[in-house]
Amino acid sequence: MMVIIGLEVHCQLDTKTKLFCGCSTDYRDDGPNTHVCPVCLGLPGTLPVVNSRAVEYALRVAKALNCEVPEESEFARKNYFYPDLPKGFQITQYDKPLALKGYLDIEGDDGVEKRIRITRVHMEEDPGRLVHVGGADRPRYSLVDYNRSGVPLIEIVTEPDLRSPKEARRLLNGLRATLEYLGVFDGDKEGSLRVDANISIEGHERAEVKNISSYKGVEKALTFEITRQKSLIRRGQRIERETRHFQEARGVTTSARSKEQEHDYRYFREPDLRPLRVRPWADAIVLPELPAARRARCMEQYGISLAHARTLVGELRIADFFEEVASVDPVLAATWVADTLLGELNYRDMGIGTVPSDRFAELLALLKQGAITDKAGVEVLRTMLDQCKEGCAVDRAVDIVSRNNLGKTSGSAFEGAVREVVAENPQAVKDYMNGKGEAFNYLIGQVMRKTRGKADPNELRALLAQTLGESGGVTKPCT
Ligand SMILES: [Zn+2]
Repeated sequence: MMVIIGLEVHCQLDTKTKLFCGCSTDYRDDGPNTHVCPVCLGLPGTLPVVNSRAVEYALRVAKALNCEVPEESEFARKNYFYPDLPKGFQITQYDKPLALKGYLDIEGDDGVEKRIRITRVHMEEDPGRLVHVGGADRPRYSLVDYNRSGVPLIEIVTEPDLRSPKEARRLLNGLRATLEYLGVFDGDKEGSLRVDANISIEGHERAEVKNISSYKGVEKALTFEITRQKSLIRRGQRIERETRHFQEARGVTTSARSKEQEHDYRYFREPDLRPLRVRPWADAIVLPELPAARRARCMEQYGISLAHARTLVGELRIADFFEEVASVDPVLAATWVADTLLGELNYRDMGIGTVPSDRFAELLALLKQGAITDKAGVEVLRTMLDQCKEGCAVDRAVDIVSRNNLGKTSGSAFEGAVREVVAENPQAVKDYMNGKGEAFNYLIGQVMRKTRGKADPNELRALLAQTLGESGGVTKPCT
């Protein structure tokens, strides 16, 4: 059963002021209704003035997504009443959006590059925010905060070209990377991205899941929907065309009772704003290096693998960090950033922004010189990250090594440990002598445990093989 997914992605543009007034968009740490004026409160008699920076940002996105930009673009009114929308309509775009017919390439589920078509990109204003006191399910009462009202959004609509929740996640990651490279979006800001997903099984009706507000949430909501729809089909039931809500905490989608959600928005051209001449504007924009180009350059310049390049350029801050430390040894740096550092950061729920690249480069240098083992390197890294997390100054890598006695000791110093392990594990030694290769690995594991990872594994292997060879004369049964 083929899965068909299309997304509508809303991203807040990272401008200093709102789309139609001069109120600051930096509201997240401030009290409710402190970033408001008559325009974004929708008071009668006020007039909107377009923030040209917001249009510029949206056009950068349109261009980066390979869209066609028409000569003129218009704002329109979408009429509906809701407490978070004080004007009684939202200023958005309808039949003359900023951009049409673009695409973004992502890695498909088969590992091959895949083109996802972009239907359109348009601008609109964010509504305010409702705070339900006593929980969203059964609030005692609701408060409204207009700080968010009028923050510029772009909506990016894709064609139904996605075939799995993982592809949807990769498209979102790709969009996030593109927008961050363009300097128009900050994906770390709470609520800066919201997604509506259309999902169906080929030959059946589709459901729309509204207002998913995290990257992980999109993958979870889609996975749940696919299971739900497939099981209905298997039982011979019909899939209703409906709007559903994703309950993030429970990981399920629930019906929003389709009929009540059907709106007639009575769109018409916004009479208070003139059409925008956008094509010449877009033509004049020079784009920076985008993720796909940076990936190709990093592979070429540093000789790193496609998998590493994909991971490293997938986020602007990670790509910058990698290039800051790449001079030590690009391939070693790629491995340690992509395979080790990101995992450790993820585990601690930290961003890469807090990690000092000069300290990390010192660690790479020690690894390159062979002064410490990989295992000791991980220990040093963990100490550094703990210091970052606590907000302390991060010690130099060599100081962490000497303080914790993590320096590599040459194999001969571990001869005692190897001899002990051989003496303590006669059965494994016997198995090895009888040609069971896995017994050797077992013995190495025992030696590693005894030496707490301070020895170089290759040296240990040689030492163990040598020791077993010597003892072989004694224990090897005569044939
Ligand atoms: Zn305002």
